[in-house]
Order: sequence, then structure tokens, then C-alpha cells
Amino acid sequence: MNKQNYIDHAEQALLHTYNRFPVVLDHGEGVYLYDTDGKKYLDFAAGIAVCAFGYGKKEYNDALKNQVDKLLHTSNLYYNVPTMEAAEKALAAADMDRIFFTNSGTEAIEGALKAAKKYAYSRDGHAGHEVVAMQHSFHGRSLGALSVTGTKHYQEPFEPLIPGIRFAEYNNLESVKAQITDKTCAIIMETVQGEGGIYPADPEFLKGVRALCDEKDILLILDEIQCGMGRTGAMFAWQNYDVKPDIMTVAKALGCGVPVGAFLMTQKVADKSLAPGDHGTTYGGNPFVGAAVSTVFDIFEKDQIINHVHEITPYLVQKLDELAAKYDFITDRRGMGLMQGLEMEIPVGQVAAKALEKGLIIITAGSNVVRFVPPLVIEKEHVDEMVTKLDEVLATF
Ligand SMILES: *Cc1c(COP(=O)(O)O)cnc(C)c1O
Repeated sequence: MNKQNYIDHAEQALLHTYNRFPVVLDHGEGVYLYDTDGKKYLDFAAGIAVCAFGYGKKEYNDALKNQVDKLLHTSNLYYNVPTMEAAEKALAAADMDRIFFTNSGTEAIEGALKAAKKYAYSRDGHAGHEVVAMQHSFHGRSLGALSVTGTKHYQEPFEPLIPGIRFAEYNNLESVKAQITDKTCAIIMETVQGEGGIYPADPEFLKGVRALCDEKDILLILDEIQCGMGRTGAMFAWQNYDVKPDIMTVAKALGCGVPVGAFLMTQKVADKSLAPGDHGTTYGGNPFVGAAVSTVFDIFEKDQIINHVHEITPYLVQKLDELAAKYDFITDRRGMGLMQGLEMEIPVGQVAAKALEKGLIIITAGSNVVRFVPPLVIEKEHVDEMVTKLDEVLATF
């Protein structure tokens, strides 16, 4: 079959929930991907902030292969060693006390919301609590996660969603205060908004929200699914601020390609939260994903990934700023670490499509942002190659 045959077959079989780029990816090596025609692409999307080590990382691949031969799945009725190790490493990295493994980011959000509701239920002896979420947030597509996702057109066809969600403006503390009632049990937000257009939390805002939560015994849930796992120059983005969440969610780069997420919490929350019978999963945290997560944390430490993010970020930022200075239609550059966005007054979908033709994979965020979430192992030469290609694309507008 040739490329167009593959695409035609896929379009006949798969539910049309994505407008895909006309590329059939076949394999990867380092920070490059190759399609079925052998064409090479520099990858600045990492499968949407997932493949932190790029492709073909031997230590990671070997760990997965070993675990495949040993044991893939057990259910959560029994213990297994890789997941116990993964749990301890994740908790140490996050300075948290309890973790629950899920199969996706969306499920991590579901669990976090349930944990917060249960905490308030145990404390108050009744249900009926509310959650404050942010406009332009993205937390996932299930009915619960969608309920706290502040984008109307994602929500509308599926209403009524779960009740008791109030939306505030991100980076506006007064707006958050205005949504707090005596029923509020949690405030949920991304530490850096991703899909909404790459907006980092203002330090004053995040500190203000934390203080508000402390004052009223409201739980702060930080969604680190996209911005976590070293991308911003700390293992978790909130570690760049002097603020700690009560519950956090992680996924995407947690497994670096294996479907796994998690929600983590402090002991204070765990003591009053989900207990046997309240929550569960068949696959979540099976030995296979446990081995992946455990190895991911090992590689972060051994390869000093976060130091590398610190080294490479100023160079990427400088090069993006140079592009922003060169083109009038680029109206902003913002982000944190290797999670950057260029806001443009030209159709960003077309920018991504033309870049692909030139062998560069970039994605968009919001309606007007080109998003850069490369593998964390990129080097200066890759930044240069990306900027050269993107510059050629931008020159055509
Ligand atoms: C991707 C994402 C999710 C949803 O994760 P899935 O693994 O796609 O379910 C939730 N929150 C944020 C911030 C994300 O970027």
C-alpha cells in the first residue's frame, strides 16, 4: 500500500474525530520521525508533550521489552514490584504522599475531582460541593473532565455536564474569589495552560489562590499533565513557584509513550479521601506501565534531563524572540522552559501544515498559537534546524 491507501483505509475505519495531517508515521530515532515513504521530520511536538526522550532510547525500550517477557498485567487485586517502585519515585519527585495510577490524563482528572469531593464529603458529612475551574482550560474529554474544561464549544453538545462547576478567569485572583462559595471544595487549574494557548500562571496569582485555599480549606488541584515531567525546568511546573498543590495530576510524559497517568495527593487529603470501594481501575498501574514510569524517573536522574532543559531553554527562547522580532504578525512569545508558544495573526493551522511539508513537526494551541513542546533532549543544532525551517514557512505569509 502507498501512503494515500493507508490514509484512505484509516479514514474509512476510524471515527472522524480528528482532522489529521496527511502523514503516516512509521518509526523514530532520536528527535526525528520517519514516515512510510522514508521522509524525515524534525519533531517539535513529541506526540503532544509525551516523548520526552525522543525515540529509540535504549534503556527505556529495554525496560519495556524485559517487562513484556515477565508480566504485563495483574489487576489491582495484587501487588507488583515495578508499580511499587514507580509510585515511590513519583512521590519523591513530587513531594507527595499517595498516588493512584490511571490510564490517561483524563482519568487522572476524574480521580482528582472525586478525591476532592470525597475529602469535603468526609469533612462536612454531606455532599453537594462545588469546584472552581478556569476559562480556556483543558482537562480532558470525559464528561467529568469536560465539565471543568472552560471552552464552551467542547462542552455544549454534551450538556448537562456535572453540576456545581464555576469558571473563573485565569491569572485573575479577584475573578477566582468571586466564584468561591461556602460549597467550594476545590480549585482546579493547569500550572501552565497548554491547549488554551500556553499561558503560565503568574506567580502572584498562584500564590494568591494557594492562600485562598488555605484560608477556606479548599483543595488546590494542579493539572501538570502537559507542563509536568521536567518540561518547564522543574520536575513539576509548580516547583518553579513557592506553592504546593493538595492534589496534582500527571500523564503525557509520565510514561513517555505508554498510556499512563496518575493523581497524587498529600496525606492530609488521603486521610479523608478515596477509600476501598470509592475508586478503581482494571489496567491502571499494571506492571508494564509501572516498569515504564519507573524507568522514566531513572532516566531523568541519570541523564540529568532537567539540567539539560535549563541549558537549552535560553537558546530556544532567544531564537523564538528573534522570529517574533522579524515578523510583524507574531504578536507574542510566551511559555516556560520547553513549553513555548508564538502567538500569530496568521492561520496557525496552515503554518503547521506547511512546516510538515518542509519536514518539521509543530502543533498549534488555542486558535492563534504555534506550540513548541519538543522532546526534552533537543540540542542547539535542532533548535537551529527548527528555526530555519519555520522561518522559511513564515516568509511565505
Ligand atoms: C492532554 C491533557 C489532558 C488529557 O489527557 P489525556 O491523556 O489526553 O486524557 C488533561 N489536561 C491537560 C493539561 C492536558 O494537556
